[in-house]
Amino acid sequence: MNLQTFLDKSGINKIWTSPRSVDDLFSVSDTNKKSMDSDLKISNNSKKNEDTFIITYINDIIIQALWLWASDIHIEPTENLLKVRFRVDWNFIKYKEYPIEQKDSFIARIKIMGYLRIDEHRLPQDWKINYKLFAWKTIDLRVSVIPTIYWEKCVIRILKKDSKPPELKELWIMPYNMVKIKKHLQDNYGMILAVWPTWSGKSTTLFSLLSQFDAEENNISTLEDPVEYRIPWVNHTQINSSINFSFANWLRSLLRQDPDIIMVWEIRDEETAKLAIEASITGHIVFSTLHTNSAVHTIQRLVNLWIDPLLITSSLRFIISQRLWRKLCIHCKLPYKADDRIKEYIIWKVWKYIKNKEDLTLYRWSENGCEKCNKTWYKWRVWFYEVLEMTDKMEELILKWANKNQLEVQAVWDWMFPIKEDALIKVVLWETSLEEVLNVLWN
Ligand SMILES: [Zn+2]
Repeated sequence: MNLQTFLDKSGINKIWTSPRSVDDLFSVSDTNKKSMDSDLKISNNSKKNEDTFIITYINDIIIQALWLWASDIHIEPTENLLKVRFRVDWNFIKYKEYPIEQKDSFIARIKIMGYLRIDEHRLPQDWKINYKLFAWKTIDLRVSVIPTIYWEKCVIRILKKDSKPPELKELWIMPYNMVKIKKHLQDNYGMILAVWPTWSGKSTTLFSLLSQFDAEENNISTLEDPVEYRIPWVNHTQINSSINFSFANWLRSLLRQDPDIIMVWEIRDEETAKLAIEASITGHIVFSTLHTNSAVHTIQRLVNLWIDPLLITSSLRFIISQRLWRKLCIHCKLPYKADDRIKEYIIWKVWKYIKNKEDLTLYRWSENGCEKCNKTWYKWRVWFYEVLEMTDKMEELILKWANKNQLEVQAVWDWMFPIKEDALIKVVLWETSLEEVLNVLWN
């Protein structure tokens, strides 16, 4: 079956192409949404004092940021203006500018929101809060303030938009990767690693995998920083980095809690790595993350952390390496015929998955973009993956201290679909542009 037929039949296509709406975000009924809009209008029109206006301004900024799926809100004083901009899919979008005279009240209000000291103007401050936007909606934010030469600059990170992680099928995992993942989720013990080079929505994949387990029948415990999702019956522990208690110590304590499945936020050091691996070969399933460039690179990273290759091979089940990038705006993307050289290359790499090889159509951005994507051509995100399975041959090579190239060749031989090819398939499926993929993966 070719990929397109598979997708059409499985219905995955529908899920993938429908963008998430603000209703998903808020999970409110229409009536609630209407009253949300009218709340804003009332507060804009009535003659309330300045404080109330500031509260409304700031709520308005947060709502707009949520609408645009921004990850951060920057409130920046300059010489004569107070600028507000959002980071959306790694790009900045200018939102509004306010008179610089309002800087005091803006920053003071944000400090009150974030339980920070209002009278402290010399030191940086930050705090995580659960902010009540409306009676029916609260969101998790991390508020950070730092003094600049003009005044204090504030960055609000939006930590949690959904309380529930997305379903595995919503994560753009192609069938060839999904088969391997599902197979190993049946294992009784072992380690599963999710890796990426920079920030790329790591927790989403990990938590979607974790929520595949029955939390009522297993003791699932996590060590996180920060806690982003909340899965019913899962024991989420927020690591407190301000107290003098090392990450490895947290893990040691957690292991005394009779866990079945453990999620360790990040393997940062040799001690944590050794403990996590030990746990995974003594009957626990351990999920964790590492910052590395590729699945194969992860094995080398573990070797560099002085983990015995024998322990690596007996604990690792699979490594899922991922990148998160921008999805073409479905409202303004335009079809074009790929030129011959590009066509040949794509067909050479992923021929099995292309239906119409002669007439390969791809999509790119339109000249001007549209209102829906704020003229940025891209909206929402798409993930690229590669999944490396631990096979007998791979084990042999690791035990022989094979180099990265040898491991890479073996991984592909064992049917690992390299991340670049996964990305090309997503180009062929019209989810993102070739230029975007080249930008991310060939740089
Ligand atoms: Zn658009």
